[in-house]
Amino acid sequence: MPMSETMEPKILITEAKLQARLTELANEISRDFAGKEITAVCVLKGSFIFFSDMIRKLDLPIACEFLGVSSYGNKMVSSGELKITLDMNEPLENKHVIVFEDIVDSGLTLSYIMSTLKARKPATLKSCTLLFKPDSLKVPVEVDYHGFKIGNEFVVGYGLDHAGKFRGLRHIGVIEHGH
Ligand code: 5GP
Repeated sequence: MPMSETMEPKILITEAKLQARLTELANEISRDFAGKEITAVCVLKGSFIFFSDMIRKLDLPIACEFLGVSSYGNKMVSSGELKITLDMNEPLENKHVIVFEDIVDSGLTLSYIMSTLKARKPATLKSCTLLFKPDSLKVPVEVDYHGFKIGNEFVVGYGLDHAGKFRGLRHIGVIEHGH
């Protein structure tokens, strides 16, 4: 049966598990950056819900920035084509920067973002991804913080979409290719 738009994703990570892990992650980051102001970079669109929960859980002064990077269209495979579709207004020089990404799959997006931002000479540059698919990595990339490691499945919810849908789910769900 081909995947239909009405197919309900199966729950992979419940809302309770998700929120508990984000609290742990935020506590860890707050300890690591204690006494510093951070610039938190939200990678649009998929990270916006993760980002908004994290900035409220972090016990740090935070400046928020938003970065648009085009990656997936309505496809379930990485195109490898990247471009910045929305850039930040503020310079990053001498700032303590943490990039919040929804998911690291091939690593192409995060590696592109990190090298682009590194050139702006921040004092610190770290990455924090909600989901990490270590078996899918195609390029080496530094993932400093991650919420959950998952397998090769295609996930949706909590900001992540499939063909524009499912971003509003409170949990992470998984949808499968037609079979
Ligand atoms: P990468 O460049 O690491 O291959 O992919 C990163 C981007 O691909 C993510 O920011 C996300 O937009 C998209 N992506 C990768 N895996 C998934 C997935 O399982 N579900 C969804 N919805 N998007 C994904």
